[in-house]
Amino acid sequence: MARLPKLAVFDLDYTLWPFWVDTHVDPPFHKSSDGTVRDSRGQNVRLYPEVPKVLERLQDLGVPVAAASRTGEIEGANQLLELFDLVRYFAHREIYPGSKVTHFERLQQKTGVSFAQMIFFDDEKRNIVDVGKLGVLCIHIQNGMSLQTLAQGLETFTNSQAEH
Ligand SMILES: [Mg+2]
Repeated sequence: MARLPKLAVFDLDYTLWPFWVDTHVDPPFHKSSDGTVRDSRGQNVRLYPEVPKVLERLQDLGVPVAAASRTGEIEGANQLLELFDLVRYFAHREIYPGSKVTHFERLQQKTGVSFAQMIFFDDEKRNIVDVGKLGVLCIHIQNGMSLQTLAQGLETFTNSQAEH
């Protein structure tokens, strides 16, 4: 059995959904009668299509999941996770501005999982650099999370373990 991470951490903006929650959409959000999630202007708000399947897959594999976002729109980000019915997948949510080193130090304290046993998906190079220095395996993603990106990340994790 391939070695799996003990914690998978996801950025939010441009990782789970294709926008900046503090800039491109207008909180508060709501679910309209047709089941779509909309912002206060009635703009339709969506996830990257495979995100629920990605989180389900990790749940099936028994890998706990956390969110690490540096957005200033804390309430809106949490609201979206609720409206998209994703809260149940996240064991921990670290959502506040600042370097993600803080987010990861808190995750490490809360979970007891060492940085070397974590995997992190983010679209921004600065976060990859900061968190990578802690010893977390960071996957720089483009075009949002997909099942393929997850599979590649998990494979990279397994291979990195084999090297040590
Ligand atoms: Mg991002």
